[in-house]
Amino acid sequence: MIDPWSSAIVNYEKLIEEFGIKPFQELLGDLEDPHTLMRRGIIFGHRDYGKIVKAIREKSKFAVVTGMMPSGKMHIGHKMIVDQLIWYQENGAEIYIPIADMESYSARGIEFPEAKRIAIEEYITNYLALGLDPDKNLHIYLQSENKIVTDLAYKLAKRVNMNEMKAIYGFNGSTNIGHIYAPLIQVADILHPQLEECGGPKPTVVPVGPDQDPHIRLTRDIADRFHSKFHFITPSSTYHRFITGLTGGKMSSSQPKTAIFLSDPPEVAMKKLKSAKTGGRESLEEQKERGGVPEDCVVYEMLLYHLVPSDTRLKEIYHQCQEGSVMCGECKAMAGEMIKDFFEDLQRKREKASKKAETILDEHKHILC
Ligand code: SF4
Repeated sequence: MIDPWSSAIVNYEKLIEEFGIKPFQELLGDLEDPHTLMRRGIIFGHRDYGKIVKAIREKSKFAVVTGMMPSGKMHIGHKMIVDQLIWYQENGAEIYIPIADMESYSARGIEFPEAKRIAIEEYITNYLALGLDPDKNLHIYLQSENKIVTDLAYKLAKRVNMNEMKAIYGFNGSTNIGHIYAPLIQVADILHPQLEECGGPKPTVVPVGPDQDPHIRLTRDIADRFHSKFHFITPSSTYHRFITGLTGGKMSSSQPKTAIFLSDPPEVAMKKLKSAKTGGRESLEEQKERGGVPEDCVVYEMLLYHLVPSDTRLKEIYHQCQEGSVMCGECKAMAGEMIKDFFEDLQRKREKASKKAETILDEHKHILC
């Protein structure tokens, strides 16, 4: 069972085999200008993404939905979602960002005003600072304030039973009812852009980590169950790899030692990266002789995911590591400078973005879809 609230999934091949996720690679050639994360195999899987490729190529309407759960600090792994949203915005998508305050209340016990504060100060500020355009086809809302979504969730819940929820999420007799109901709100988040009052049926994609696949499968099933009533087009999804934490496991906001937070001062981000686990050998002699292992290196992963836009430069770093012509000390110093520059720039942009972040939810309050 894969479970969106706890487990870390690392065996991506198994996931593709067992859960019917298709390799993203097969569609790469159909996209004129795929995102770096797609080209580099970080987005590794999809369900039904052909519909989205078609919409992009034909410049027809499509939507992207990706929620944020306001429960902690945003770390650099979360940046992947924003990078994808920016790409979709450039490719003509309507962007929907539900803020899962109802889920954070029922699953994590966070009060609604606190969820709103975290969403504004932490998430929305970073989304805007990272480059999401607040004025371009963007719909951002708190779940608890979107009556179209909550009404739709209630209607959809009519055709979902408890056994199904237990089988998908592992809920048991002591799970609170709000927590059980929260996934239905997320299903409605994903499907509501297709309601007649929101412009009618359109291809919709949800970019997620593989731990969110239970939601995707449930949403696709429910969309099909309600096809005759709402004419939903079954939503598509993409799956991206997790970024490895600084200590080698999963990067997690609740385990500060594993994460570089987007609000970290540049010097702190640099220091954290320099102390991360590498794929270096026991001694310099051994590394010169056998080379390093970039695939096992958190520093390399940071370059791959976030810091080196040029594929040529990245390949060069990869080969230098493998050949043993660059040692970890030098490589970390270079990566450290890169992350420091990135964070200095982000810090400036966060300061600018924070004002807009404070007002955007109120500005969008009446745009429910
Ligand atoms: S040389 Fe660089 S990429 Fe290679 S293992 Fe060391 S830190 Fe990682």
